[in-house]
Amino acid sequence: MALTIRGYAAHSSTSALAPFNFTRRDARANDVVIDILYCGVCHSDIHQARNEWGNSLYPMVPGHEIIGRVSRVGAAVTRFKAGDMVGVGCMVDSCQHCESCAEGLEQYCDEHATLTYNGIDRHDGLPTYGGYSERIVVSDKFVLSLPETLDPKSAAPLLCAGITTYSPLRHWKIGAGHKIAVIGLGGLGHMGLKFAKAFGAEVTLFTRSPGKESEARRLGADHVVLSTDPAQMQAVSSHFDFILDTVPHQHDLNPYLATLKRDGTHVLVGLIEPLEPAVHAASLIMGRKSVVGSAIGGIAETQEMLDFCAANGIACDIEMIDIQNINGAYQRMLDSDVKYRFVIDMASLRREV
Ligand code: NAP
Ligand code: ZN
Repeated sequence: MALTIRGYAAHSSTSALAPFNFTRRDARANDVVIDILYCGVCHSDIHQARNEWGNSLYPMVPGHEIIGRVSRVGAAVTRFKAGDMVGVGCMVDSCQHCESCAEGLEQYCDEHATLTYNGIDRHDGLPTYGGYSERIVVSDKFVLSLPETLDPKSAAPLLCAGITTYSPLRHWKIGAGHKIAVIGLGGLGHMGLKFAKAFGAEVTLFTRSPGKESEARRLGADHVVLSTDPAQMQAVSSHFDFILDTVPHQHDLNPYLATLKRDGTHVLVGLIEPLEPAVHAASLIMGRKSVVGSAIGGIAETQEMLDFCAANGIACDIEMIDIQNINGAYQRMLDSDVKYRFVIDMASLRREV
């Protein structure tokens, strides 16, 4: 029998999020049923609630930084049991047989991973609904174990902001001896600083916001460059091995490429629109530089990241909100007025009558 669920949904690209009742499937044999305790608020939630990527399905229940407690498992599930603390990130399923899935890179599944929300379940064809809700049903392969020493509230954003910054830093083997820069001090950016520092790199923040310097240093930056100041940009010309770019909107990459050393890499994680203004090919040719992209991380790597955070005392800096304040939180994120991730306390949803 389908489960009746309360949540918050966007009903169109212009409407505010509002209470929404919907149904989820009952547990299939491989499913885990999770009572959601906390859910982080990612900038991707805003992009999709407002149809900024042009692929939104409504009504939409956003949320892909989920921490909860297992309430029930399907007959074939052996890794989880009722009472376990678990996490769910941006994906809830994938084909499980393509080359990428076989390598644990489900986010690059040839048949496209099933997204936690704004997706279609590959078995029953029904829409997927995310973490701004009281309960979720997820295939066990896509459920993460929450290490006991991690605080569940500040761990929630690790499921997206954490893995999206951890994965490219690991893939490009960032560590001691590297000079790396993070662009943008938001949810992803603050985790980029923490991971890069933990991996032993010398870390710089590029920000367009004056006044973020002392915070950036607290979070792990050794240096801060105001990207709107040409003199400060000039001072780091040909300086970095690697740039992690978390900016959510179109912006000029050329000034940043000038700050890369020969063979340097500029990885995009924030932007999915066309590059505008265009990248000047000379910015790449002169110095054999690369502009690349990276999407979240696979399930095994997400577990590795959670375990790394537990072992190294790393967590997200969060501000807790009630679900009733989600629309105000979106506006504050757009104003860069959050340190550095909102997390919804789902108890506030359960208090609603
Ligand atoms: P966020 O918390 O809003 O932070 C973005 C930061 O970028 C801001 O704090 C700001 O930092 C800077 N910024 C914002 N607008 C800018 C502009 N117009 N020009 C220059 N800088 C600007 O966002 P987030 O949650 O970290 O997400 C960042 C992006 O990553 C979003 O587009 C999101 O959809 C995307 N994302 C991608 C993946 C993936 O798998 N690739 C996963 C998750 C999220 P300063 O004030 O310091 O400049
Ligand atoms: Zn996200």
